Amino acid sequence: MSEQTTALVTGANKGIGYEIAIGLGALGWRVGVGVRNDVRREEAVEKLRAAGVDAFGVALDVTSDASVAAAVGQFERLDVLVNNAGITGGMAQEPGNTDLDVVRDAIETNVLGVIRVTDAFLPLLRASASPRIVNISSSVGSLTLQSQGTDATGPIAMAYPTSKTFLNAVTVQYAKALAGTNILINLGCPGFVATDLNGFRGHRTPAQGAAIGVQLATLPDDGPSGGYYDDNGPVPW
Ligand code: NAP
Repeated sequence: MSEQTTALVTGANKGIGYEIAIGLGALGWRVGVGVRNDVRREEAVEKLRAAGVDAFGVALDVTSDASVAAAVGQFERLDVLVNNAGITGGMAQEPGNTDLDVVRDAIETNVLGVIRVTDAFLPLLRASASPRIVNISSSVGSLTLQSQGTDATGPIAMAYPTSKTFLNAVTVQYAKALAGTNILINLGCPGFVATDLNGFRGHRTPAQGAAIGVQLATLPDDGPSGGYYDDNGPVPW
C-alpha cells in the first residue's frame, strides 16, 4: 500500500476543485482527480502533473452508483475526501415558477452525490490515521444569512441555495455519526469565485476559493468536526 497521504477531489478538472488539487498536491500528497468526462480528466491530470502534483485520474460521476463503485476500486488507501463537485442546476428557480427537474438535478449532484461518494469511501477513510472529509458548501446555504437578506445570499433561487442548506444538514448528521472516531468532517465556503458556475462573475480567484478547502483538509487531529467555515471563521447556520 502507498505510504503517501492520498486525497480525492471530486470535480477537480476546473475552478475551485482544480485549485484544491493544486493545494493538496503541493503538500506532497497523491491526488485523485475525480472527473466525469474522459478528455477533461486527462487534460486536468496532465496539467496538474506539469505543475508538480502527483495526480492520477479517477473516472467519477457523483450521480452514478456504478461510477462511484468503480472509482472506489481504484484506491488502496484514502485519507482525505473533498466533495467539491457541484452545479447550480440551471433555470427556472424562481418560487412560483419552479422547474422541479432543476431542483431535482441540483439535489442529485450537490446532496445525493456527496452522500453516495462519502458512503462509498467511508471504509477506506476509516482505515486512515487522520481522515478528513471536506464538503464544499456555500454561504448561500446559510438560513441565517438568507433570512437576513444580506449581500452574501445571492439571487432568490429554489434549487442551488436550498441544495447547499440540505448539504449542510447532511454534513451535521455525518459529524454526529462520526463523533468519537478520528474522522473530521466539515463544510467549507469558498466565497464568490470567478468560475464557470457563475459565468465568471465572482470577485475571488479559484485559488482564493480553494484555500478553505485545503485548510479543512489539513486540520490537525484535535481540529473541529461538524463545522461550517469560510476564510474568516465560522459561518452562521
Ligand atoms: P465549476 O468551475 O463549474 O466546477 C464544478 C465542477 O463540478 C466541475 O469539475 C464539474 O465537472 C464538476 N461536476 C458537476 N457535476 C458533476 C458530477 N455529476 N460528477 C462529477 N463532477 C461533477 O464550479 P466551481 O465554482 O469551481 O464549484 C466548485 C464547488 O464550489 C461547487 O460545489 C460549488 O457549489 C461551490 N461554490 C462555488 C462558489 C463560486 O462562487 N464559484 C461559491 C460557493 C460555493 P464538469 O467539468 O464535467 O462539468
